[in-house]
Amino acid sequence: MSESNLEAENPKLFKIRHSLAHVMAQAVQKMRPGTKLGFGPAIEDGFYYDFILPEPLAETDFKAIEKEMKNILKAKQEFSYEDIPVDQAYEKIEKMGEPYKAEYAKDLVKKNDLDCLRFYTNGEFVDMCEGPHVEKTNEIPHNCFKIRSVAGAYWRGNSDNAMMTRIYAWAFESKEDLMLHIRRWEEAQKRDHKKLGKELELFHIDEEVGKGLPLWLPNGTVLRTELENYIHDLEYKAGFQRVATPHLTHTSLYHKTGHLPYYEEHMYPFMKIADADGHTAEEYCLKPMNCPHHHKIFASRLRSYRELPIRLAEYGQVYRYEDHGSLSGLLRVRGMCMNDGHIYCTEEQIEEEFLAVMQMHKTLYETMGIKDYHMRFSTWDPEDPKGKNKYVDNPEAWEKSQNLILNAMEKSGLPFKEGKGEAAFYGPKIDFQFRTVTGREETASTNQLDFAVPEKLGLHYKGSDGEEHRPYIIHRAPAGTHERFIAFLIEHFGGAFPTWMAPVQVKVVTVSEKFNEYGEKLAQILHNDYVRAEFDNSGDSLGKKVRTATKQKIPNVLVIGENEVLNESVTLRRYGIEEQKTMPFTEFKSWLKEQIEDRVLNEHVIQR
Ligand SMILES: [Zn+2]
Ligand SMILES: [Zn+2]
Repeated sequence: MSESNLEAENPKLFKIRHSLAHVMAQAVQKMRPGTKLGFGPAIEDGFYYDFILPEPLAETDFKAIEKEMKNILKAKQEFSYEDIPVDQAYEKIEKMGEPYKAEYAKDLVKKNDLDCLRFYTNGEFVDMCEGPHVEKTNEIPHNCFKIRSVAGAYWRGNSDNAMMTRIYAWAFESKEDLMLHIRRWEEAQKRDHKKLGKELELFHIDEEVGKGLPLWLPNGTVLRTELENYIHDLEYKAGFQRVATPHLTHTSLYHKTGHLPYYEEHMYPFMKIADADGHTAEEYCLKPMNCPHHHKIFASRLRSYRELPIRLAEYGQVYRYEDHGSLSGLLRVRGMCMNDGHIYCTEEQIEEEFLAVMQMHKTLYETMGIKDYHMRFSTWDPEDPKGKNKYVDNPEAWEKSQNLILNAMEKSGLPFKEGKGEAAFYGPKIDFQFRTVTGREETASTNQLDFAVPEKLGLHYKGSDGEEHRPYIIHRAPAGTHERFIAFLIEHFGGAFPTWMAPVQVKVVTVSEKFNEYGEKLAQILHNDYVRAEFDNSGDSLGKKVRTATKQKIPNVLVIGENEVLNESVTLRRYGIEEQKTMPFTEFKSWLKEQIEDRVLNEHVIQR
C-alpha cells in the first residue's frame, strides 16, 4: 500500500507511523549528535528514516533506539506546526544544519511554487514536514512498533548521491497487530523461495551464466516436469494441441504485430546478420512472447470454420530484458518458460471458450490447494477521452465481447471484480489474483481477448458462407511461467511438496544395517515402478536419518526394522504428521500410487 493510500484508508495508523518516524529521527540524533536527516516516510508495514551518521549503527543498537523512542512517547510531547515564509524557512534549515533537507526544500518550493514551508515541532525536535501527526506522543502505544532492519540507500534513490543509512521499523495500531504481522513475516522468511530453493537444491543462479537466468537443479527440474505433465493432462482434456516454436525469430514479425518498436526496451539487443557488403541482411531477436508464433501456426494453411475452435498450447521459453535492479530469485527473471496457449475461435464460441479457461484455472487451484483467489475483469471505458487512441476503435466489438466474457464469468460461479478502463488496447482481459500464505496479493495469470492482432497479421478462416472471416484470439496462461509459479508453490507448500510433485517421494531408512538388504530391495521395487524412491545408506543412526529426511521435507519416510522384515511390511512416517502407521508393503505401494496418480494434496502441510 502506498503512503497516500494508507493516509486515506487508515488516517489513524498513518499518523502513528508518520509521527514515529519523527520520534525515531529525534532519538537517533540524540544518541548520535551530528546525524543528518534524509527522508522518513510511512510505508506498507511501518516507516523508515534515512540518515547520514557520524558513526555507523548496528542491529545491537536497535534496543537502545527503541528505548529512547519510548522515553519520547512517555514524555507526552505535543506536535505543533508553523508555516514559515520560504526565505526564513531556508535560514531555519541552515541553522538546523540539515543540508539534505535544504536541498529538498528548494526543489519543493520550485516544483510547487510555494510561499511557505511547514515545520513540525515535538519537544526539542523540528522537522520540515506536511504532517499530519498525532497530537501528543503518548497517544502512540509504546509497544506497537519494533525496529526491523538497517540498510543502505542512496539519497533520493540516485547512485551518484551520498549513501545513507536507512532504518526500517514496523508500526501498527496495537501490540496485537504488531505481533500478528511479525509472526506472518517470520513465516514468510521461513518460506522464502530463495532460501528454500537453496536448501532443497531446486535452482541456482550463477552470475557467470547471467543475471536472471536461473539454472534448474535436478530437484527443481522434477517440479517443472511434474507441473508440466499435469498442465499437459489438463490441456489435453480441454482439447488443446501441443506445438513447439524456436527461441529466435525475425524482428520483422514483431513489427507486424505492432509490438515493435515500443516493446524493444524489454528485449535483449537484436542480432544482426550482415550480407557480403556488410549491410544488415537479417535481424533476429530472442522472442519475448509466444503469441505471434502460434498465430503463424494457425496461418500455416487455410482454416475452415469446421476446425474452430483451434487451441494451441506450449510451455514456451521467452526472454525479457528486465532491469537488473528488479531481478529477484525466480520471481523476476530474464529467461522464463511460459504455460502459453491461444484459442482461435468465432464470436459465438468466445463465451464457452472463456468459461472453459476459467474452469481450468479452478481445477489447477484446487489441485494446488489455493483457496483465496478471485478474477479481476478489466474492461474498456468508452467515456475515457483518451479511449480513442488507447483502445482499438471498435465499440461494437468491445461491447459484444465484454458481455460474452461477463456471461462466462457469471456462469463460472467464481468470484470476480470489475476494473473499468483497465483493459489492454487490443481487448478486455481477466487476471487471476490470489492471496499467498503470507498475505500478499499476486497476479497468477492473465487471459485476454484479442481482436486487433488477427487484423494486423491478416488471420482468417473460411466461413460456412464460403467467405473469409477474422477469428478471435484468446490468450491464456493458467500457470503463468514456471519461474513465478514454482516460486509461489515453494512458498505455498513451505517446500513440503505433495507426493506427486516431490523431488524425492519416498525415503527408506533402516533401524540397523541388518535390515539394509530388505530396505534397498523396497526402494528398488518402487524405483522400478516409476516412484522417486531413495534408500538412505549413510550409516547414520535412525534418529539422524529421519531428521535428514524431515529437513529435506520428503513426504513419505519408510522405517524398516525386524518386524517389517518378518512381516513384509513398512512403517510409514508422513511429513508433518506425528503418528506413524505400519502396513503391508503391497498396501503401502498401492496407496502411494494412488496419491501420485490422483495428485493428492498434503492438506496438513498447507494449513499449518
Ligand atoms: Zn512528519
Ligand atoms: Zn498470447
